Amino acid sequence: MTMVQLYSKNLQQSINIQRIIGKIKGRHPGPTLVFLGGVHGNEPAGVIALYQLIDELRSQEIEVYGSIYAVAGNLSALRNGKRFEEEDLNRMWSFDQVKSFLNSENRPINSDRQEQIDLYKCFETILQSEPGPYYFFDLHTTSSETLPFITVNDNLLNRTYTSQYPVPIILGIEEYLEGPILSYVNELGYVAFGFEGGQHEDRASVVNHLAFAYLSLVFTRSISKDAINYHHYLEVLSKTSPMGASFYEIFDHFGIHPDREFKMQPGFVNFQKLKKGQQLATYAGETIYASNNGNIFMPLYQNQGTDGFFIIRPIPKIFLRISAMLRKVGFDKYLTLLPGVKWKSERKDALMVNQKLARFFTKDFFHLLGYRSKKLDKNHFIMKNREVASRRSDYENTAWYKK
Ligand SMILES: [Zn+2]
Repeated sequence: MTMVQLYSKNLQQSINIQRIIGKIKGRHPGPTLVFLGGVHGNEPAGVIALYQLIDELRSQEIEVYGSIYAVAGNLSALRNGKRFEEEDLNRMWSFDQVKSFLNSENRPINSDRQEQIDLYKCFETILQSEPGPYYFFDLHTTSSETLPFITVNDNLLNRTYTSQYPVPIILGIEEYLEGPILSYVNELGYVAFGFEGGQHEDRASVVNHLAFAYLSLVFTRSISKDAINYHHYLEVLSKTSPMGASFYEIFDHFGIHPDREFKMQPGFVNFQKLKKGQQLATYAGETIYASNNGNIFMPLYQNQGTDGFFIIRPIPKIFLRISAMLRKVGFDKYLTLLPGVKWKSERKDALMVNQKLARFFTKDFFHLLGYRSKKLDKNHFIMKNREVASRRSDYENTAWYKK
């Protein structure tokens, strides 16, 4: 087992960790929780919080139901304080990529792929040895200052579960990311989502991650509300966010080429309100303006990355309710009666949409039904259904699902 020293000067902390930061098996049956920290090696706050969580649960002898795993992501990158060594460990988890690395075990591979194989085996062991229901929490931090928020793939299980946290929830980021680890776990059918605790080197990020973890233990009934100071942790997170639990969708994304100069206008903070036409950035010598009213999301102020910024907007509650209803009744099975829409596979989890024929349907309409789009070519979109894989029956008896 590799042991790694994680040292953060700004967070004034030095800890020794291995793949499993800590594991607690309760004496009573209950859910299986997997917290993942440091998939990006320059984000130590989540790992430090998990280390502290395990330590506190043990020393205070808190009664645990089911099992809790705290897992470290990119150990080698964590030791070196880098986002990754050669490849981003959070961009290599599409089903095809996972299949191909499983077949390549004897070939020489870079250290990030070695980490991936190790993590994969770790997850497999947990899935085989624990009964579930399973929950995966992926802890991150951001380069610029931000209030804490949650990112989820838009399926009803994730939506219902995450609505318990008093922070903004961003749906649909997976349309813009290739192969994040969470999409992989969602495709397996389990509740899985990301929590962004704040800025990388901010002490408050550790505090936010710890509060998030404790709330997760309570929301899943892994521990009892009365075993900890629940209201304190709820307060820690709710005071960070003036908008409370609310759902947002991404409706604009400004992608950039690493060779061209991108400069965000100074002073934008995450979630800041924007007016249509407002000046946002310069890119390759041109001025970039806001395409519509909304809120800025993840403005790029560091030198690396291919996402200049996103623009998000709140999703009205009525829209969330209608979409939940349509998904539950399986409204989408009628879509293939329409011209330009057909199933892409026999599994009926993806639609092929010919935009020329089906142009009266907007992306928003498919989103409503739980589909996420990927452009195939000039005229075709593949719409993938996020609901098909969900193992809803695994969660039927949980407190949050029944509500
Ligand atoms: Zn990250």
